[in-house]
Amino acid sequence: MHAHGHHHDHRATDPVCGMKVAPGGSPSAVFEGTTYWFCDPACASTFREDPTRWADGAPLTHDHDETDATHHG
Ligand SMILES: [Zn+2]
Repeated sequence: MHAHGHHHDHRATDPVCGMKVAPGGSPSAVFEGTTYWFCDPACASTFREDPTRWADGAPLTHDHDETDATHHG
């Protein structure tokens, strides 16, 4: 086994624009117990105006790959 010696940081996805952001040094908003991070205060502001619109689209704990979900049988 040859492991990739690369520590994967916990990157959050800005639900508004889809950018990868580093939690901690970015604007954030808490909605329904989930913390969302944003690349910009503008995105955070947009989110706060209508959280349901964005929170539903790209939750922080999104851990599935963009694989082809083909239907077999
Ligand atoms: Zn953004």
